Amino acid sequence: MIDEIREKRNITQEQLETLLTIEDDSVLALQLAENDSQSALHYLYQQAREVADAVYGKRVFKRGLIEFTNYCKNDCYYCGIRRSNKCAKRYRLDKETILDCCAKGHELGFRTFVLQGGEDGHFTDERICEIVASIREQYPDCAITLSIGEKSKESYQKYFDAGANRYLLRHETANDTHYRKLHPEELTLTNRKQCLWDLKEIGYQVGCGFMVGSPGQTIETIYEDLEFIKELKPHMVGIGPFIPQNETPFAKEHAGTLEQTLRLLAIIRLIHPHVLLPATTALGTIHENGRELGILAGANVVMPNLSPKDAREKYTLYDNKLHSGDEAAEGDANLRKRLEKIGYELVTDRGDFS
Ligand code: SAH
Repeated sequence: MIDEIREKRNITQEQLETLLTIEDDSVLALQLAENDSQSALHYLYQQAREVADAVYGKRVFKRGLIEFTNYCKNDCYYCGIRRSNKCAKRYRLDKETILDCCAKGHELGFRTFVLQGGEDGHFTDERICEIVASIREQYPDCAITLSIGEKSKESYQKYFDAGANRYLLRHETANDTHYRKLHPEELTLTNRKQCLWDLKEIGYQVGCGFMVGSPGQTIETIYEDLEFIKELKPHMVGIGPFIPQNETPFAKEHAGTLEQTLRLLAIIRLIHPHVLLPATTALGTIHENGRELGILAGANVVMPNLSPKDAREKYTLYDNKLHSGDEAAEGDANLRKRLEKIGYELVTDRGDFS
């Protein structure tokens, strides 16, 4: 079955269900020797890695994440920086601070900067364009990625013209009913998807994605996510476990698991050999070796944090979010060592979709 998924670059809902419900332990499966194929999951991960290695080699790309504002006009039920969270300590970085983050990152070998934030009205199109244009001017060889939510096509076009090349906008779920469970009424799946199509049409390299184990997620909704990804053909797919945040309506919900996330990373890799697949911060948060395990399951991107320390502490999308150690850019050398231990090289390369 795994060979068939790899060959056809396609999965049926039944196959998805089988792979997500097989009773086996991924961490153990990933520790088995290369030639021990007793375990189905071991074989799944081995195949996923083989597919990734054939396209990208034993290389992991790094993106420097700059969380530049946690003000947000939206009220997504899962997110710790939603507008109704009165406990969130709000902050914004000004242009100079953002440029300092880039300078620090560039020195550490980062060639992609990801500007992520809530939907913050303070950052008008004009301000965003000014920031993007400054980074573009100072770092002509770097990729600039934006992740600032839903905007009009005109706005996306302006950012692109100012020098942005990539945009991350997780679709969160491709199922309407599930989307309604995760978001207040003013947000619609139709608009979210339209944004992604607009971004593609403008010429951005686009990333979509979803949380694993978010409240209301089922095999069926995941299957719809995979179908949507096939239709959109994004350059990147960001998936990580849902982790409850104490001040949100989902505070008491269960977190998504390492197990399901690793399986889905591998499945997405088999279906999309070329896609850029990050081992996310959330994955690193639920397990101490989450990121390495993600790479061994077929991921090929890491996104360490370049934000100043006090900003990192306030960008609390979920509880216990990593914000020091390897997640800090200062941990670059450490991260490099950890990846070397599992046979991968952390490279200074924009890591464009190939
Ligand atoms: N405002 C931007 C950035 C959102 S934060 C946007 O709308 O795209 C980036 C991602 O973090 C979100 O897309 C979501 O998938 C993830 N996220 C938010 N809350 C989370 C939580 N509680 N657990 C895990 N991931 C979460």
